[in-house]
Amino acid sequence: MAKLSIRDLNLRGLRVFVRVDYNVPMEEQDGQMVINDATRIKETLPTLEALIAQGARLILAAHLGRPKGQREPSMSLRPVAAKLADMIGRPVAFVDDCLGEKVEKTAGALKDGDILLLENVRYYDEEEANDPTFAEKLAKVADAYVNDAFGAAHRAHASTEGVARIVGKRGGKCAAGLLMERELKFLGDELEKPAKPFVVILGGAKVSDKIKVIDRLLEKADTILIGGAMAYTFKLAQGFKVGKSLVEPDKTDVAKAALEKAKARGVQFLLPTDNTIVTTVKTDKLNKKGKPIMEFTNPRTNAEANIPDAEEGVDIGPKTAVAFREAILGAKTILWNGPMGIFEDKRFAIGTNAVAQAVVDATAKGAKSIIGGGDSVKALNKAGLGDQVTFMSTGGGASLEFLEGAVLPGVAALSEK
Ligand code: AMP
Repeated sequence: MAKLSIRDLNLRGLRVFVRVDYNVPMEEQDGQMVINDATRIKETLPTLEALIAQGARLILAAHLGRPKGQREPSMSLRPVAAKLADMIGRPVAFVDDCLGEKVEKTAGALKDGDILLLENVRYYDEEEANDPTFAEKLAKVADAYVNDAFGAAHRAHASTEGVARIVGKRGGKCAAGLLMERELKFLGDELEKPAKPFVVILGGAKVSDKIKVIDRLLEKADTILIGGAMAYTFKLAQGFKVGKSLVEPDKTDVAKAALEKAKARGVQFLLPTDNTIVTTVKTDKLNKKGKPIMEFTNPRTNAEANIPDAEEGVDIGPKTAVAFREAILGAKTILWNGPMGIFEDKRFAIGTNAVAQAVVDATAKGAKSIIGGGDSVKALNKAGLGDQVTFMSTGGGASLEFLEGAVLPGVAALSEK
């Protein structure tokens, strides 16, 4: 059954506990924490504005970083309150705690349409432990609950799950915010019965991270395109040589099973037929883990199915990019998760950018394109193409778990329509 949305409600005069995702990147400048990228704040504005238009009294809760139960000043949400006030054009009250007397007093004095942001919920260990007493304390100020933090919905924490259960038990409404509602629509409903042909593009580092998604999508997809380091585990499973490429030798059986399932179901399963390869050279510099930093030298196209022993595959090659483009342009529904290569280095972003452009072109021709979060979103934004796809998920881990078909605790706790 569908989850209740704030569009189904009128929360006038009620104190609404809104879980948002304000885990924004910050940086210290002249002794002050400054927000580097306010995208996550911007994305909550439609929900907040809709609630304000209803006359709700907003109590916003979020986490920032991993303070591990300590009051870590660099992870305070105070700068977010100022930024939000700026962006929404209204005052935003801030209390330097997420529960207790001060919170109750400020929340009690809110008028219709007022906004209060609470301090980082992860200043308490009980948040991640989903401690029931802690959740009760958080829920004390809430008449209703709204979750707009899809990116945190795969965790059963107090502010994402516990509070909703308590509010629901009291007879209060627990609804999805507009951002959450869109995530459920595109990653859920739209992929339930996708318009065909349905083309799935998967990349990134590891097969093990995405095998459950592959397995589930093999039931629905017409074509699956695999790039990134993930492809090398499939190539190894097929008996090809992968040189020094990032690979999971213990996952070849899983890869084989996926290839067999694709064959049995008549799903076209395309792997790279050429690659960009490099020679890796150890430098004197060490990374954070104390391991030598590797330098990639002599990038070139390897048109062979096998990668030479001393070389590493870092991107799909030009022939593969053309084949992937052709498949993508024939799609009516596209799901993309994961880069085709080490796209952080622009020399190896060519395959990822080619896929991004193909997805954009297919969208312009009428296909629905759904980007399953994480690095594919980063790659599209970096290429300036983010606004030319149908939907980009705001989740990373949450998107993957949802695509696997898992029930997300933060979603499960919301009221049914
Ligand atoms: P994921 O989080 O699983 O989507 O993986 C994303 C990461 O995979 C990115 O940081 C890429 O640099 C990395 N990646 C993609 N292709 C390769 C490759 N051929 N070799 C090593 N890393 C890769």
